[in-house]
Amino acid sequence: MPETVPRIVIVGGGFGGLAAAKALRKTDARVVLVDRQNHHLFQPLLYQVATSELTPGQIGSPIRGILGRHRNTTVLMGEVTGVDSDRRCVFFDSVDREGVALDYDYLILATGASHSYFGHDEFAQFAPGLKSLADAVSIRNRILFAFEQAETEEDPRRHRDLLTFVLVGAGPTGVEMAAALAVLVRTTLSSEFRRVDPASARIVLIDMGQRVLGPFAESLSAAARSRLEKLGVEVRLGHGVDHIDADGVIVAGERIVSKTVIWTAGVAPSPAGKWLRSETDRAGRVRVRPDLSVPGHPEIFVVGDTASLDQDGHPLAGVAQVAMQQGRHAALVIGRRIKGGPAPHPFRYFDKGTMAVVGKGFAVLQSGRLHLSGLLAWMAWAAVHLEFLATSSLRVSVFVQWVWMYLTGQRGSRLIVNHHGSVAGHTRVPSSSEHPSSSEHPSMSAR
Ligand SMILES: Cc1cc2nc3c(=O)[nH]c(=O)nc-3n(C[C@H](O)[C@H](O)[C@H](O)COP(=O)(O)OP(=O)(O)OC[C@H]3O[C@@H](n4cnc5c(N)ncnc54)[C@H](O)[C@@H]3O)c2cc1C
Repeated sequence: MPETVPRIVIVGGGFGGLAAAKALRKTDARVVLVDRQNHHLFQPLLYQVATSELTPGQIGSPIRGILGRHRNTTVLMGEVTGVDSDRRCVFFDSVDREGVALDYDYLILATGASHSYFGHDEFAQFAPGLKSLADAVSIRNRILFAFEQAETEEDPRRHRDLLTFVLVGAGPTGVEMAAALAVLVRTTLSSEFRRVDPASARIVLIDMGQRVLGPFAESLSAAARSRLEKLGVEVRLGHGVDHIDADGVIVAGERIVSKTVIWTAGVAPSPAGKWLRSETDRAGRVRVRPDLSVPGHPEIFVVGDTASLDQDGHPLAGVAQVAMQQGRHAALVIGRRIKGGPAPHPFRYFDKGTMAVVGKGFAVLQSGRLHLSGLLAWMAWAAVHLEFLATSSLRVSVFVQWVWMYLTGQRGSRLIVNHHGSVAGHTRVPSSSEHPSSSEHPSMSAR
């Protein structure tokens, strides 16, 4: 394409960035998408990789492959480190170079969020969060390791501690993960161990709030809690964790000994606000105008988890649908400007509803006045998640795997990958920083 055609740089190939790139396919522009990963990740199913239901390849897809037929689009792998809004360029570190400059006429920042330990970053080394494929594989390793270690442990008094799993945060991720873990230990693993009984594993879900799934209606929170308890999950509400270390957690003055603590609580937005030096909300998300552009910079748009916009007096939630609709809207605004057409209406989020799955065949669904829990909600959950996977091959593969697992209990992958930390009788749990793919994800060490 000639150099005179405007260049649109999109940073981030997640839900928001990818939706924008797809919507710009027919626009007379050179689109460049930069992501630090080579793949788009379907984060809502990360917990299924962490609990061995699906393989990493079933929820991630190369961005280059997804956009391969978009003739106006170039995909670059690199970590963006800053934006010079006066010079209109972004800087990124590529595989072998630092600070590569990339000019833009329009910029869409869709860099998502990472974990927040609410000022206790020291918890990160003991309680990994779930945000990337590397995180999910690392957590899967930890869970499977715990069972292997318990099976080889001669002292039965230690079995209980090894098989205690603590999840901190009872939002959708914590609830889905706790329920999936309960199903894993009580079905697939239950008959395979001889010295320990996997079904005796203790799964503790902790939250400082008064109910699980806080953003849902109270009746759905209660249904989810009751389902969790039926699955054997110990739900402890009303107190956050005071401390996390190598021996477990302290909550309300009580120590819960555990070798596997998983952080499913807060998220923090990407540093896009710092790059732009623009106004942010309390969480650090960039405040955007109703057309999703940044105040004072009509050529820069911020979408998804890293943007802050109120609708009907409430901030929009950090969910995939918001990111996708915003990505498409930013593309529409830019496309109209390039064509010289009228500006579209301000962005308005169309809420199709929220869902969370609680183990096999049970979900809660909230859409307007419709509140549903049970099998029907689970079927809706399954259909929606299949629909939003990035490619048809993933849809087929996940569908087949779900049916297979539903019927047989057999899982996608129960491999402990990269357990080279086994040293002279001491089985060391590999941290995410030891995982080979962590080098693709430089921010992981900061979590
Ligand atoms: C475990 C989990 C479960 C979830 N479950 C649900 C659910 O059930 N339903 C739902 O609606 N939402 C769910 N969400 C939230 C949903 O995934 C997010 O709201 C959504 O991904 C936000 O889209 P985004 O485009 O803003 O960011 P993301 O999808 O996170 O994409 C950000 C992209 O930017 C890239 N990036 C970040 N920084 C840089 C940089 N400096 N340089 C280059 N590239 C960069 C990242 O690699 C990534 O590809 C879940 C999230 C998690 C973590």
